[in-house]
Amino acid sequence: MSKKEDLEKIAKEIEECEECKKDKFGLPVPGEGNPNAKIMFLGEAPGVEESKTGKPFVGKSGKFLNKLLESIGIKREEVFITSPVKYYPGKRAPTDEEISHGMIHTSKQIEVINPKIIVLLGNVAIKGTLGKDYKISEIHGKLIKKDKRIYFPTFHPSAARRFPKIRKPMEEDMKKLKVLKCDIR
Ligand code: URA
Repeated sequence: MSKKEDLEKIAKEIEECEECKKDKFGLPVPGEGNPNAKIMFLGEAPGVEESKTGKPFVGKSGKFLNKLLESIGIKREEVFITSPVKYYPGKRAPTDEEISHGMIHTSKQIEVINPKIIVLLGNVAIKGTLGKDYKISEIHGKLIKKDKRIYFPTFHPSAARRFPKIRKPMEEDMKKLKVLKCDIR
C-alpha cells in the first residue's frame, strides 16, 4: 500500500471510531496534506468550521496559521496538518482521555508519514506527544527528541492570533522553523 492509501485507511478508522465520536460533534477531521511531508503540524482539536468541512484549520486560527506558514515560505500542500483530537468537542478543552485516545490514531499517521520534524501547536499537542510535565513557556522554539522523533513545540495559532504577547514569540519560533526546514531538505 502507498502512504496515501495508508493514510486513507487511518482516516476511515477515525470516521468509524465510536470512542473518538463520544461527546463530540460534526464531521471527523482526520487531517490533510502531503503523505511524504518532512514537517507535520499537530494542533488541538477541530473547531466549529472544521467540524462542518472535515478539514483541519479552516477557521480563524487556520487563516492565521496560513499567514504564519506563508511568512516562512511553507505551503500548506507540502506539510501534513492534523490534531490529536479528531472531532469537535464543543466549547470546551479536550480531556486527557480524549487526547490520549486521539493519539492512537495520530501516532499511526506519524508512523506512515515519518516526518523529520513534528511541530506541536500548543499544550494539547505537547501533552499528547511529550507528556504532562512540559511547560510551553520553557520549551517553545526548541527541538526536543523523544522516542526517535524530533518535536518542535510552539504556541497554538488561536492564542497567538488573540494575544500579541504570544504572537511575537510564536513569530520568532516560526523563523527558527524556517532555518530548520532549510537544514532538512
Ligand atoms: N484548531 C486546532 O487545533 N485544530 C484544528 O483542526 C482547527 C483548529
